[in-house]
Amino acid sequence: MLTTDGWGCGSNRRTVRENLPNSTDVLVVGAGPTGLMLAVELTRRGIDYLLIDEVEAPSTFIKGSVVSFRTLEIFEELGIFEEARKLGTVVHAVVLWAEGRRAMTGDMALLDAPHAYNLHLGQPYTE
Ligand SMILES: Cc1cc2nc3c(=O)[nH]c(=O)nc-3n(C[C@H](O)[C@H](O)[C@H](O)COP(=O)(O)OP(=O)(O)OC[C@H]3O[C@@H](n4cnc5c(N)ncnc54)[C@H](O)[C@@H]3O)c2cc1C
Repeated sequence: MLTTDGWGCGSNRRTVRENLPNSTDVLVVGAGPTGLMLAVELTRRGIDYLLIDEVEAPSTFIKGSVVSFRTLEIFEELGIFEEARKLGTVVHAVVLWAEGRRAMTGDMALLDAPHAYNLHLGQPYTE
């Protein structure tokens, strides 16, 4: 059992800290893709947790814009594949350019996978 008593917090975080519960079974630090995925899995297992992040709102800077074919399989397990598929754009090929020349082309259709493509879907949607 973790407790939130006695935490040192900066002045801009104090308002949020006042809303924290006194205890939890799992403390997840960081609400990026890793922390959010962990939170989803803890929720599915009925385990009490507290998810915290040093920033108060989701980032408007998009890091993750492509959801890989393997992640799409995990989305299917989570029951969010259909929704993601509707919101996103299917990417069938990847072309890499170097010094003005086409250096590589990757044909996703050649993948041995249930969803042989990547999905272009911005981080604000996946979060
Ligand atoms: C420019 C760029 C483009 C990318 N594009 C893609 C892409 O198209 N597809 C893809 O799959 N991946 C992409 N990635 C990689 C992807 O962003 C990372 O793999 C992913 O964000 C890692 O998730 P994470 O949750 O581990 O870390 P992060 O996304 O870094 O999240 C960490 C979280 O923890 C919080 N935090 C950190 N320290 C503390 C602390 N001490 N206390 C409280 N909170 C804290 C941060 O505020 C943040 O919200 C890209 C990365 C970059 C930089």
